[in-house]
Amino acid sequence: MKIHNFSAGPAILPQVVLEEAAKAVENYENVGLSILEMSHRSKEIVAVMDEAQSLVKQLLNLGDDYSVLFLTGGASSQFFMVAMNLLNEGEKACYLDTGVWSTKAIKEVSNFGTVEVLASSKEDNFNYIPKDWTTPADAKYLHITSNNTIYGTQYQNFPTTESILVADMSSDIFSREFDASQFGLIYAGAQKNLGPAGTTLVIVRNDILGTVNRAIPTMLDYRTHIKKASAFNTPPVYPIYVCLLTLRWLQGQGGLKAVEAMNKKKAALLYDEIDRNPFFKGTAAVEDRSLMNVTFAADSPAHEAAFLAYCTANGVSGIKGHRSVGGFRASIYNAMPMESIEFLVNLMQNFKPE
Ligand code: PMP
Repeated sequence: MKIHNFSAGPAILPQVVLEEAAKAVENYENVGLSILEMSHRSKEIVAVMDEAQSLVKQLLNLGDDYSVLFLTGGASSQFFMVAMNLLNEGEKACYLDTGVWSTKAIKEVSNFGTVEVLASSKEDNFNYIPKDWTTPADAKYLHITSNNTIYGTQYQNFPTTESILVADMSSDIFSREFDASQFGLIYAGAQKNLGPAGTTLVIVRNDILGTVNRAIPTMLDYRTHIKKASAFNTPPVYPIYVCLLTLRWLQGQGGLKAVEAMNKKKAALLYDEIDRNPFFKGTAAVEDRSLMNVTFAADSPAHEAAFLAYCTANGVSGIKGHRSVGGFRASIYNAMPMESIEFLVNLMQNFKPE
């Protein structure tokens, strides 16, 4: 039976990426070695690192004023690294609280400076993106979570601000076209739209660094990794290689514009069924609906259990909502083929509970 993988992350990757990645484990490009046993200083692996960085810049239209890093520690380490590298004691960072991940990011800031939460949708279980707020003039940076993996909400427009704009794009990086040059820093754990777990992409505008007085431990200083092209210490070569394969695949699809058009079609198919089918309803505010994580609920707990069992019996995997919200979440990242969404929609249409 074919399994349709709707997991939120680690998540589906393009089939061609998996095939290439498997080959590289056996024998990397006929070098006669597995990529898993090759030095990160070898010319082949240095080329992997270089190409991955340059493809990120190409896809996002960024120039030499930005650096692209592949770090470890997950997106969760960026929650504190951002504040540690950008915020002086006594300076203020502003955050929008749109879910568990932004809440975790907010928690780290007070170790380094002052944090102000400009708005939060917590009282409505984070089912929308707050819109009515302004950034104070003294904010050093403004942090947003562009896509809220658990709740299925996504910024449709990014805020304009005089401060440095920082985004956690873990669950929607490379899913749509946007002006990356409006951001001072973007970070994203790889394991949703880019590759396997084990590396975190960081894109940073060089001029925002070097403005804090504190001593930053070497490994936690972005400048260390910029100087050494993400190889100050041994980088997670294999996850980065798989990211490179995905980046090549993305380019082959026609880049972000083409991928966005496809993502919109895929999401529309599923949302249309959710809105039409009396057994289901969407849980995120319609105007903030995510193209990546489609959240919905059944009309009763009995129907929820029955539909989940029906999905499992038919090879639809990873569709159970996050434990903190329940219901369903269909994660439909870039690599999710239209056929799998059609398959799910078909199940929804054929669902005839007692
Ligand atoms: N931010 C967002 C938006 C996420 O969805 C996640 C993981 N699900 C994280 C941060 C945490 O990422 P990591 O596990 O790589 O630390």
